Amino acid sequence: MFCPQCHTEYRPGFDRCADCDLPLVQTLPEPPPPTAPEELYEGAWVTVANLTMQTDVSLLKAMLDADSIPFIARNDSSVFIMDGTAIPCQFLVPETERERATKVVEQLAEGYQPSASED
Ligand SMILES: [Zn+2]
Repeated sequence: MFCPQCHTEYRPGFDRCADCDLPLVQTLPEPPPPTAPEELYEGAWVTVANLTMQTDVSLLKAMLDADSIPFIARNDSSVFIMDGTAIPCQFLVPETERERATKVVEQLAEGYQPSASED
Protein backbone atom coordinates (compact mmCIF):
# COMPACT_ATOMS: atom_id res chain seq x y z
CA MET A 1 0.00 0.00 0.00
CA PHE A 2 1.29 3.43 -0.88
CA CYS A 3 0.38 6.99 -0.04
CA PRO A 4 -0.53 8.74 -3.31
CA GLN A 5 0.96 12.00 -2.04
CA CYS A 6 4.23 11.27 -0.24
CA HIS A 7 4.72 7.81 -1.82
CA THR A 8 5.48 6.20 1.53
CA GLU A 9 5.00 2.45 1.46
CA TYR A 10 2.81 0.99 4.21
CA ARG A 11 2.46 -2.55 5.37
CA PRO A 12 -0.92 -4.31 4.88
CA GLY A 13 -3.37 -3.28 7.57
CA PHE A 14 -2.89 0.43 7.12
CA ASP A 15 -5.40 2.24 5.00
CA ARG A 16 -4.50 5.89 5.52
CA CYS A 17 -1.23 7.75 5.39
CA ALA A 18 -0.31 8.92 8.90
CA ASP A 19 1.38 12.03 7.53
CA CYS A 20 -1.01 13.10 4.78
CA ASP A 21 -4.28 11.64 6.11
CA LEU A 22 -5.04 10.27 2.64
CA PRO A 23 -6.40 6.84 1.72
CA LEU A 24 -3.63 4.51 0.59
CA VAL A 25 -3.62 3.00 -2.88
CA GLN A 26 -2.48 -0.44 -4.02
CA THR A 27 -0.07 0.85 -6.61
CA LEU A 28 1.37 4.22 -7.41
CA PRO A 29 0.46 5.65 -10.78
CA GLU A 30 3.14 5.28 -13.40
CA PRO A 31 5.21 8.42 -13.79
CA PRO A 32 4.38 10.13 -17.07
CA PRO A 33 6.84 9.33 -19.83
CA PRO A 34 9.29 12.08 -20.74
CA THR A 35 7.84 14.46 -23.25
CA ALA A 36 8.98 13.74 -26.76
CA PRO A 37 9.89 16.80 -28.82
CA GLU A 38 7.05 15.92 -31.18
CA GLU A 39 4.58 16.55 -28.37
CA LEU A 40 5.81 20.06 -27.61
CA TYR A 41 4.19 21.32 -30.79
CA GLU A 42 0.71 20.49 -31.86
CA GLY A 43 0.24 19.39 -35.39
CA ALA A 44 2.38 17.55 -37.82
CA TRP A 45 6.14 17.52 -38.16
CA VAL A 46 7.52 17.37 -41.65
CA THR A 47 10.89 16.28 -42.95
CA VAL A 48 12.78 19.12 -44.60
CA ALA A 49 16.21 17.55 -45.07
CA ASN A 50 18.15 14.32 -44.94
CA LEU A 51 21.83 15.09 -44.52
CA THR A 52 24.72 12.70 -44.61
CA MET A 53 27.53 15.18 -44.05
CA GLN A 54 28.30 15.89 -40.43
CA THR A 55 29.42 19.39 -41.37
CA ASP A 56 26.06 20.04 -43.05
CA VAL A 57 24.24 18.72 -39.99
CA SER A 58 26.10 21.11 -37.71
CA LEU A 59 25.63 24.01 -40.09
CA LEU A 60 21.91 23.42 -40.58
CA LYS A 61 21.39 23.21 -36.82
CA ALA A 62 23.13 26.54 -36.38
CA MET A 63 21.11 28.10 -39.21
CA LEU A 64 17.79 26.85 -37.84
CA ASP A 65 18.76 28.05 -34.37
CA ALA A 66 19.62 31.44 -35.79
CA ASP A 67 16.15 31.68 -37.30
CA SER A 68 14.50 30.35 -34.11
CA ILE A 69 13.00 27.43 -36.02
CA PRO A 70 12.35 24.44 -33.76
CA PHE A 71 13.60 21.18 -35.18
CA ILE A 72 14.23 17.53 -34.44
CA ALA A 73 17.42 15.97 -35.75
CA ARG A 74 16.98 12.20 -35.97
CA ASN A 75 19.97 9.88 -36.14
CA ASP A 76 22.00 12.90 -35.22
CA SER A 77 24.82 10.96 -33.61
CA SER A 78 24.86 8.10 -36.08
CA VAL A 79 25.88 9.82 -39.26
CA PHE A 80 28.51 7.50 -40.54
CA ILE A 81 29.47 5.48 -43.51
CA MET A 82 29.25 1.72 -43.30
CA ASP A 83 29.84 -0.41 -46.36
CA GLY A 84 29.48 2.73 -48.41
CA THR A 85 26.04 3.47 -47.02
CA ALA A 86 25.49 6.76 -45.31
CA ILE A 87 22.81 6.92 -42.66
CA PRO A 88 21.25 10.33 -43.11
CA CYS A 89 20.39 12.66 -40.31
CA GLN A 90 16.72 13.49 -40.74
CA PHE A 91 15.61 17.03 -39.92
CA LEU A 92 11.98 17.57 -38.99
CA VAL A 93 10.25 20.87 -38.30
CA PRO A 94 6.65 21.72 -37.38
CA GLU A 95 4.52 21.96 -40.49
CA THR A 96 3.91 25.63 -39.70
CA GLU A 97 7.65 26.27 -40.07
CA ARG A 98 8.06 24.23 -43.23
CA GLU A 99 8.32 27.23 -45.53
CA ARG A 100 10.97 29.03 -43.52
CA ALA A 101 12.92 25.84 -42.87
CA THR A 102 12.85 24.92 -46.55
CA LYS A 103 14.44 28.25 -47.40
CA VAL A 104 17.16 27.60 -44.85
CA VAL A 105 17.79 24.17 -46.35
CA GLU A 106 17.98 25.74 -49.81
CA GLN A 107 20.53 28.21 -48.52
CA LEU A 108 22.55 25.31 -47.16
CA ALA A 109 22.36 23.45 -50.48
CA GLU A 110 23.54 26.53 -52.37
CA GLY A 111 26.39 27.03 -49.98
CA TYR A 112 25.68 29.22 -47.03
CA GLN A 113 26.60 32.79 -47.86
CA PRO A 114 24.79 35.14 -45.48
CA SER A 115 25.74 38.23 -47.48
CA ALA A 116 25.00 36.85 -50.93
CA SER A 117 22.75 39.11 -52.94
CA GLU A 118 19.54 37.68 -54.28
CA ASP A 119 18.28 37.91 -57.86
ZN1 LIG B 1 1.58 10.44 2.80
